[in-house]
Amino acid sequence: MDPQQEPVSYICGDCAMENTLKTGDVIQCRECGYRILYKKRTRRSIIHVAFWLFLMQTAHGSLRASINQTIARKQA
Ligand SMILES: [Zn+2]
Repeated sequence: MDPQQEPVSYICGDCAMENTLKTGDVIQCRECGYRILYKKRTRRSIIHVAFWLFLMQTAHGSLRASINQTIARKQA
């Protein structure tokens, strides 16, 4: 119905690297191999990207560590 041959930009959920993928390409970051990529165009994705960029750029290790601690507490 609406075949899109144009490449679509994706943002890696792990390293925030931009990946340009075409239809049929494997969804995987070329930089780190992470398999969760967010489409750049939709609004919801932009929120995700902004969130991840925030995590990356502010307190890369410590913020993630605190999140992991929270998860660990829930599981305990
Ligand atoms: Zn990546």
